[in-house]
Amino acid sequence: MHFEDLTPQQKEKAIACKTPDELAALARKKGVRTAFTKDITNTVDGKEAFLRLALDPKGECDRAQSFTSCPFGGCYLQLARGAIWPCQVAAHHGSFARRFGYDMHDAPADSLPLESIGSTDDIETFRRMPHPMCRHCDNDALTVVPWGRSKLSADEWLSSR
Ligand code: SF4
Repeated sequence: MHFEDLTPQQKEKAIACKTPDELAALARKKGVRTAFTKDITNTVDGKEAFLRLALDPKGECDRAQSFTSCPFGGCYLQLARGAIWPCQVAAHHGSFARRFGYDMHDAPADSLPLESIGSTDDIETFRRMPHPMCRHCDNDALTVVPWGRSKLSADEWLSSR
């Protein structure tokens, strides 16, 4: 089920977690395993922080440049919709695009269908190259923000440049 399919009450409950520990506990209750990684800054003003994406819905970024400066691509492969994806943006942008009405679409080269994989070399090659979806990432504008409750507004995920 996608977030936008939830009722207002369910949405409220889903975003009520105020700390990473609360979120992990909620995930555990739902049978979902989570692991928070320590980013290079770790804390901002004494609070836990995370790396905020800087998406460009128009897709005007240079995909090779975005991939080169990407902290996620190839490191955080995702398994979704019967395929391997290079990152969370490529695998899960659909919910964001539908919720906020953006015209963001993945291309066949953004994923590696499981049935097409013949060897680990196929995965290695795939994970080391830029993908069409990379044009939607303004990775020179990534920011580190303190952990906090979402306002559920698109600007939390958009590049501010
Ligand atoms: S789409 Fe490309 S640039 Fe954006 S997070 Fe994924 S791998 Fe990185």
